[in-house]
Formats: sequence, C-alpha cells, structure tokens
Amino acid sequence: MAMMNAQQYRESLAKRKPLKVYLDGKLLADPLAHPYIRTSMNTVALTYEMAHDAEHRQLMTAKSALTGETINRFCHLHQSTDDLINKVRMQRLLGQRCGTCFQRCVGLDALNAVFATTFDMDKKLGTSYHARFRKFAIAMEQNDWIVDGAMTDVKGDRSKRPAEQRDKDMYLRVVERRAGGVVIRGAKAHQTGSINSHMVLVMPTVSLKPDEKDYAITCALPSDAEGITYIYGRQSCDERKLGGGEASDIDAGSPTYGGQEALMIFDDVFVPEDMIFMNGETEFAGPLVDIFASYHRQSYGGCKVGNGDVAIGAAASIAESNGVAKASHVKDKIVEMNHLNETLFACGIACSANGKKLPAGNFFVDALLANVCKQNVTRLPYEIARILQDIAGGLMVTLPSAKDWLNPETSEVLKKYLAGAEGMSTYERVRLLRLIENLTMGRGAVAYLTESMHGAGSPQAQRVLISRLANVEEKKVYAKSLALNNSLESVESAIRAGLKKLRAPAKDPAPARAADLAPVK
Ligand code: SF4
Ligand code: FE
Repeated sequence: MAMMNAQQYRESLAKRKPLKVYLDGKLLADPLAHPYIRTSMNTVALTYEMAHDAEHRQLMTAKSALTGETINRFCHLHQSTDDLINKVRMQRLLGQRCGTCFQRCVGLDALNAVFATTFDMDKKLGTSYHARFRKFAIAMEQNDWIVDGAMTDVKGDRSKRPAEQRDKDMYLRVVERRAGGVVIRGAKAHQTGSINSHMVLVMPTVSLKPDEKDYAITCALPSDAEGITYIYGRQSCDERKLGGGEASDIDAGSPTYGGQEALMIFDDVFVPEDMIFMNGETEFAGPLVDIFASYHRQSYGGCKVGNGDVAIGAAASIAESNGVAKASHVKDKIVEMNHLNETLFACGIACSANGKKLPAGNFFVDALLANVCKQNVTRLPYEIARILQDIAGGLMVTLPSAKDWLNPETSEVLKKYLAGAEGMSTYERVRLLRLIENLTMGRGAVAYLTESMHGAGSPQAQRVLISRLANVEEKKVYAKSLALNNSLESVESAIRAGLKKLRAPAKDPAPARAADLAPVK
C-alpha cells in the first residue's frame, strides 16, 4: 500500500505493540485514546486525508524517484527545485488547516538528509550505508510511514562535550557493539509527533571529534521497540482539552487539533545491523546535522506561514466582531501582519527556488537562505501575535469560563454584556477570542511561537551558519575595489583579481561540511 488514508493511518498506529507512554504521572493503558494525544493524531491524519483530496492531491503527492509510484510528498526525496517549493506550499496549506504543528516534516527532512549523507560517507570512506538506507527509504514510501526524526539530545551541561558530561548518557550513544547490531542508550528531547509515528530515525545532535565515536550513531527503529519510553510534554492550557463536551470545546480554543512533544528515553535498545546508517564515522555527524537543520529551517517558511494565515484571519474576524474592522489603524495592522507573514513565505520559497542537486541525486535548499528564513521565523510570528492580541483586546484573557456561558443562571447576562458589534454573533465572538488565546498563549502557541523560536535550532544556531555561509571576504573585495580604484578598468580588474585570490584552493582544506556541499550542476 503506497498511500494510506486517514482511517488507515489511525488503524496502523493501533496495530503497534503497546507504547510505554507516561502522561500526567500515569502510565497510559491506551495512549491513542487520551484527548491530548487523540487531537495531536487528528493533526497528523490531515497529512493523509489531504493526499486523497481531489483539490490538493497534486500538491500532497509526488512520483517516487525510487519506484516510480505515486507517494505522499512527506515520504519523497526531492527531485527538483519545484519539489522543494511544493514542499513549502504543502506545509503552508496544512498549517492553515490545523493552526498548529502537523508533526510530519521532521521525518521528511531526516529522510533527505540521511540519504545525502550516507552517499557522501560511502564515497569518502568506502562504507556501504547508502544502499541500506535506500531500502529504508523505499519501505518508508511503500508503507507511508510517519518517521520521527530524533536528533535533539538532552545535552546536560552545555559547556561540555558529549564525552565530558558527568553522566555520559546526556547524549545518546552506543553502549555495546555485538554481532548483528548495537545497543543504544540516552534520551531525545522535544520529540515532535513521536507517539504518532511508526518509526524513529535517530541521528547525532552535534558535530563530533574523532574520539567521540560512540555518539556517531544514525539508525532506525520501530516506535514500539523494546526499551523505548515516552514521557509526554505538558503544554500551556492543555487541561482545557479534558472533560469533553461543549464547555471544554469552547475553552480549548481549537478543540480538534493539537501538536505533540515528548521526551523519549532509550534504555539499552537493540538496533539490528540493517537499520544502522552511521556507526562511528564522527566526521559525518556535523555535515548530517547541518544538512538536516537547513532542510528543517526551510520547513518553517511553510508551516508557520500557514499558522500565520490563521492568526491574520482571526485578527480580521475579531475586528469585525468588535466593530472596528473599518478603523484605519486596524486595517493597517492587518496589512502589517500580512507583510510579515508573506516575508516568511518569501524566504521559504527563495531557499527552495535556489536549491541545488546533491551528489546523492536529491535536491538541497540554499542553506544560507534557509537559515535566514528560520532566523526571521524566530521573530516575525511574535510580532504577528502581538498585533493579533492588540486587535483582540483584553477580553481574550478576562473572558469567563464556557461553563458560565452555558450555566442558565449566568448565560443571559453574559450574552447581554459580551455582545459586540451590532448584527454579529456573540457566540462567535467568544469562540474567536478563545482561538486567539490558544494561538498566542495556549497549546497552539507552543507550535506558533515557541517552536518558531526553538524548533529546528534556537536563533543562535542559525546565526552560526549565516556567519559561516555568508561570504564576507568576497563582500570586502567589492567594497575595497570600489573604494580604492578610480576607473572602470581598474575597479573590474581589482574585483577579478580579488575573487581569484579568494577562490584559489586552500593548501590544507577543511573537511567538507554538508551545508557547503558543492552542488552538482
Ligand atoms: Fe512541520 Fe512545522 Fe511541526 Fe516542524 S514545526 S514538524 S516544520 S509543522
Ligand atoms: Fe519542529
């Protein structure tokens, strides 16, 4: 079955061995039935449902480069810059539909990053990981798997390297090598959608030194593998999803959908040989991290723009409910929100359009532009949310509980005093305010704001790559050539000479990094 629908996806998760999931201090007997998890699963299910929707099928699917079959785009190795652009357009579409994180992109980005890195590794080191990973990629496509890309280690004392940590498990590592496979131990933090996944693709989280071989492990496991424990992450206002019924639906703000983050513990988990795609090749840990990070920073130019569309729609709708839609400052604020949101989309599209083919055959984003994209995402959604709160007004946080709204003793007085613009529905006004609260302060804000800040790396991580990739030395050549020369000929020849000198091969070149990979023309 190359493509599942939403129902088949739900059934496929239910067929897994029972996952060990702790939530609110309890081991869950049926994790998928819990309201936090059920709503997060609804969001992932959208990625299956939309792939069968006549209107969106073309965007949501692709032709496999490995088998020629039609597959879900979330399992696709990008074959062109159009594929990269369509990925971002697909992410915006889904972000609009759910207003939160649909959790499936990490696996897509990990797929493309490990595919590229195993190819480079085999070429340089004579290993044979790429053919093995191809088999995994085909299985991912054919089974339409959700794959949790498990990169972020818990990291302990950030001033120390993995092997220098007092507790060596602060970075996931190989604790035993035996015939037929390895045993891994450690934890991965902030695992988006991990409980809703079929497989986990473990990757290192930092570049590594030659003596840190045990930490250089990339491998795949079923999400129900023996020894994996999930501890669910609390999200702001998540208890509003509990209780069921109309009151909790109203107060939840967005009752149908939600994101999911969990801490994953790997307690001496055995990984068979055929599922290992890096085992001790420390020099390729950094390149894998960089290439994955750039793909994932591109992703944010899609999903967060879709969430921004919901924020803008909420601002315009609540302005109507409040009777201020025609006020010129409100109209201008909505223009500003659109300007900011489309700036993010422009970055997502630009890094895709400027993408290049990698030696492995799949396409990679322009890493500099992808990092600029994500750096903007760490800022602009916060400004969009600030304007949204401005337009919504203070009632967003002082609104009585929906139980008061539904209580016959108070409902009439609330309907009277919470009424907004003439002719507008007071009920709709209340529900919009709860949506805005959710998006900017509640469970939805985890996806729209905090993930924008820290997902795919915190702001400083992008600045490190921008500093590495933006060629300041070349810019100095331009500036000095213009400043120091007086004629057309001398300016041009100074630029040519300066660039030639800069581009001369170094005598002792630094090891290749994936983000700097020379594209195949
Ligand atoms: Fe996808 Fe965005 Fe969620 Fe990351 S934060 S998994 S890119 S929806
Ligand atoms: Fe994320």
